[in-house]
Amino acid sequence: GRWVRSTAILKEFEEKCGTPIGKLRQVADAIWWEQAQDAHQLCILTEKLMNVYQASQLLPCLVEPSRYLYVSRNENGLFYALDLGGTNFRVLRVQLGGKDRRLISQEFDEVSIPPHLMTGTSDALFDFIATALAKFVNNEAEGFHPPPVRKRELGFTFSFPVRQLSIALGTLIKWTKGFNVEDALHLSCCLRGFLCLVGQDVVGELTKVMERIGLDMRVTVLVNDTIGTLAGGRYYNQDVIAAAILGTGTNAAYVESAHAIPKWHGLLPKSGEMVINMEWGTFWSSHLPLTEYDQALDAESLNPGEQIFEKIISAKNPFILRTRDMSAMHHDMSSDLKVVGSKLKDILEISNTSLKIRETIVEICDIVATCAAGGILGILKKLGRDIVKDGENQRSVISLDGGLFEHFTKFSTCMDGTLNELLGDEVAETIVIMHSNDGSGIGASFLTASHSQYLGVEES
Ligand code: BGC
Ligand code: MG
Repeated sequence: GRWVRSTAILKEFEEKCGTPIGKLRQVADAIWWEQAQDAHQLCILTEKLMNVYQASQLLPCLVEPSRYLYVSRNENGLFYALDLGGTNFRVLRVQLGGKDRRLISQEFDEVSIPPHLMTGTSDALFDFIATALAKFVNNEAEGFHPPPVRKRELGFTFSFPVRQLSIALGTLIKWTKGFNVEDALHLSCCLRGFLCLVGQDVVGELTKVMERIGLDMRVTVLVNDTIGTLAGGRYYNQDVIAAAILGTGTNAAYVESAHAIPKWHGLLPKSGEMVINMEWGTFWSSHLPLTEYDQALDAESLNPGEQIFEKIISAKNPFILRTRDMSAMHHDMSSDLKVVGSKLKDILEISNTSLKIRETIVEICDIVATCAAGGILGILKKLGRDIVKDGENQRSVISLDGGLFEHFTKFSTCMDGTLNELLGDEVAETIVIMHSNDGSGIGASFLTASHSQYLGVEES
């Protein structure tokens, strides 16, 4: 969002201004100032909003039992996951070897989602996904051992807000990111007997489509990508307390003590803990540092008025300037910033830029990348982990995934810098940001193993 805003500013100024440099500096300075405030402001705001949303029945902060995270690491067998929710979707399989051998092998395939399917019918979308999954399943290589009599089991990472009713049951609350499946067509869809997924059981619909194309698989778990990433992170490191996704969309999940969640009226779990899928993309407050450019971006989006927090943090854009282009510009090490120059020319059709302009662009990339730190700080603050308590050897590990984080190296450097700046060295040392590569999918496959319907069934 921020980046679109910056490019909008640049484009506008290129078109209208006679003396570019002065104006550009002014713009950069203004954003810089604003952004330094942003991370801090977003931290305070995130914590406040967490308190508000955890006390009310409003959409964000969905509370889920912490056993949804439980993986013993003794799990055994072959398990699948399907990870849907960004620009791509992934299918993967893992072969788990029990206590001693743990994760023996893994394989995955990534398919980009044709844009027309993101705004078509969910039937067509699920058909496409299930077909790709079937192809992947039929291609089981040697080394992967399907159980002789069991159905193959699948973890479905579905990265949209879902009202989770049980580990393998949940209804879609709304679409986010570039997805707007059937909404525009809602009426005609329903009239024509097409399926409308909002309000429907996501697993049931996927299962129907799998049956139709003859793919014999059982969906054992349904998880949000943040929950998958949290479970995947904890498999390797017990100090993981939160997970965040920075990609096409953004969100975070964390472990909270049950009695600190006013809206949880259910039984207190034995562990005393619950998991919160924050759905922080939905967070909204009149105190969010929105500029006219953020407003313009929102107005032109598929879901105006919604996912405002997401729009200022994540990589969402109208597919003009992709994360990888911004990343390439940010990493341009050539003395004359060649890459920046050619990207500006090719993508934004701004040619013959001076070195000074190109330098400022790199600076703006830097500024843009610090915002996300604010949200993470908010979680630490809510958990009281933004200070070091005397005599406690506290470590807070945060598992991060998503294209923005993964492919944009400088993004994480900027985030580390902001955390250091705002927390001070002593606290910052206790915070570890861990890149959990493909954690959302792998985590879902681990959870599938630990919730397998064949648990305790003797291998024949
Ligand atoms: C969705 C979340 C998801 C996040 C990251 C958001 O748009 O609402 O459920 O976790 O994107 O993929
Ligand atoms: Mg993802």
